[in-house]
Amino acid sequence: MINLDTPIEDVPRIGINYQKKLKKLGIQTVQDLLFYFPQRYDDFSDVIEISQVQAGNTICVQGEIIETNLSRTFKRGMNIIEITVQDGSGEIKALWFNQPFLEKTFRQGDFVCLAGKASLGKKGIYLSNPVHEKIGQFEENEDLTHTARIIPVYGETKGVSSRWLRYIIKPLLTQFIEVVPEILPKNILEKYKFMGIQNALWQVHFPDSFEAADAAKARFSFEELFILQLSVLREKAKLLQKKAPNCPMDADLMKKFTASLPFELTASQKQCTFAILKDLEKEAPMSRLLEGDVGSGKTVVAAMCALNVVKCGYQVAFMAPTEILATQHYKSISNMLKTFGVSVELLTGKTLGRKKLLEKLFAGKIDILIGTHALISKGVEFKNLALVVLDEQHRFGVAQRAHLVKNKQLIPHLLSMTATPIPRTLALTVYGDLDLSLIKEMPKNRKKIQTLIVEPKQRKEAYQFITSEIKKGRGVFVICPKIDSTKTKLEEMQKRGPVSGSFIPQNYNVAMLGVTEIKSVKEEYEQLSKEIFPDFNVTMLHGKMKPKEKERIMLDFKNGQIDVLVSTSVVEVGVDVPRATVMMIEGAERFGLAQLHQFRGRVGRSDMQSYCFLFTTSPDQLNRKRLKALVDSSNGFELAQKDLEIRGPGQVYGYAQWGLPDMAMQGLSNIFLVEKTRAAAKEVLEKDINLADHPLLKERVNRLRTQIHFE
Ligand code: ADP
Ligand code: MG
Repeated sequence: MINLDTPIEDVPRIGINYQKKLKKLGIQTVQDLLFYFPQRYDDFSDVIEISQVQAGNTICVQGEIIETNLSRTFKRGMNIIEITVQDGSGEIKALWFNQPFLEKTFRQGDFVCLAGKASLGKKGIYLSNPVHEKIGQFEENEDLTHTARIIPVYGETKGVSSRWLRYIIKPLLTQFIEVVPEILPKNILEKYKFMGIQNALWQVHFPDSFEAADAAKARFSFEELFILQLSVLREKAKLLQKKAPNCPMDADLMKKFTASLPFELTASQKQCTFAILKDLEKEAPMSRLLEGDVGSGKTVVAAMCALNVVKCGYQVAFMAPTEILATQHYKSISNMLKTFGVSVELLTGKTLGRKKLLEKLFAGKIDILIGTHALISKGVEFKNLALVVLDEQHRFGVAQRAHLVKNKQLIPHLLSMTATPIPRTLALTVYGDLDLSLIKEMPKNRKKIQTLIVEPKQRKEAYQFITSEIKKGRGVFVICPKIDSTKTKLEEMQKRGPVSGSFIPQNYNVAMLGVTEIKSVKEEYEQLSKEIFPDFNVTMLHGKMKPKEKERIMLDFKNGQIDVLVSTSVVEVGVDVPRATVMMIEGAERFGLAQLHQFRGRVGRSDMQSYCFLFTTSPDQLNRKRLKALVDSSNGFELAQKDLEIRGPGQVYGYAQWGLPDMAMQGLSNIFLVEKTRAAAKEVLEKDINLADHPLLKERVNRLRTQIHFE
């Protein structure tokens, strides 16, 4: 007896090879198969007479095979299978190329249904590689699977064809449809007039009409986003029931702090700080996302809140994604707070005297501990942590927060900072458990960064301009898409001899091998230091270097000992070098818009005019359009929106890595759906926070939690 939970291994007709392939698609059980939805449909529902077929149209015909000409082999080894089908109104030939296994499929006298595009050949109209299906001779309204209807086309992966999936899924649907349970609460089904689960499953795979398919998909999109909303909102509600350290705002201290700064805070910075300080006064733990474009000044907001927390007698943890950034934050925060009697320390994987430091931390003698992921390594325990600040890593589970504190009854507040603009639909779903603060404006003294697309023939001119900037004492970033050159790799391969069947001729050239040349840090460094800027100090920086070395280089660059820094995307986030005025990006088309915008934000961090040069050799229009968007806009939100429009949701933000079901992903761009699901989820949770009355929903929510990993 098989049921919905039966593993695919135990389903008849799925051989061992297919089992492996299905697992690669994430399909483990009968249920998974039923919920593996098509990506699109082909409409073969209109069966016409053969005499009506016109070349160029996609058509479906039925008839008897009156002639077969099987497995002829043509020159160059091409195999052709040809049949002639007749339906009383006329006859038509159908040909299949290089599918010799079809030889056994067709016999004279069989009745078939054929669907596909009609082509015009020398001998008249024919069908090339049509979809085919055997049919009964006299049956009226026979329910076919591959033809004579709207047929599902699944996302095909190597070796799993839509035809095979239809052949497997349809009988399973017939067998199991009755036992697929309804998961949506009745009132929601009624309120939104959704199709019931069983009808929806049929209609999503084998729809009666495109309208029915759309209605079915609308239901499943709703369902997936609804589950996501339940998950996010439930976590949020549960967290709000917990207690957090209480940190009343010290207005005088805050005034003193702002007065000590060498600049005036922007209105946005003030508003955000106030919102955070208000949260810190509450009993429940804060979960707030502070969003602000690169250079908008998030660090000072965090420092101010940290100071307030420390003066309430608590500790602060400040976590950055890289060693360089942690060190930079350590320096700037120590500096900002130096007159306030606050003890600030740095902890990274490389910290010496870790044991002593951790003892001090546990004894409460350190007020603010800044660091990398080392902050959540084993043995790190705060005495009375009240605030966790995260830079450029949006998430930090409640469990992780609790893990850092001795008193597990109190959950520390969380402030997460990011320069990644988050569209509204995401703010209400994936980030729906976080409250949002926005720094909307840049510090006043900033000049707009001039952004230019540089054509290959303008390269020399660009170098001349850069030389004049260096002579003024300015710093220059050069970003390359990769570390090693293709050439070096090829040379290595040549030395080692042919590897795994690949042979590289002695007199290779890159273009010959079909590899487009992509600038590499090492090559570019050689060229710039020896040929272009021989009189200046050119240095390279990349992710394979030791953290200490990277840090020393960044410092030298910051202090002006290095003029040109050739680097990979390691400088992407946060590094502050006010004297840098030129950002030069090689192979700009290879980076996402958000990433390019981040690179650009590395310059223009002072009152000096700064420049961003985008070097590209790509003639591709889409790439051009994206780069043009960067030239035209300096607003991160606008760019995020454009990136979404130009590339589509699957390509942006690494959505794909989140592990969300397809239907939920698709729904993420639909604000109406997002709002509907949020309202519905709130309604359910208000009455039943533990989902005790909705065991099926609860199970799905829990399952989703194990599948997703949001950044
Ligand atoms: P980000 O938001 O990218 O993290 P930072 O916090 O690193 O930005 O700030 C960038 C630079 O701007 C720092 O050198 C900081 O001292 C400076 N800064 C921050 N706020 C202001 C302001 N209101 N006016 C002038 N400079 C500011
Ligand atoms: Mg920053």
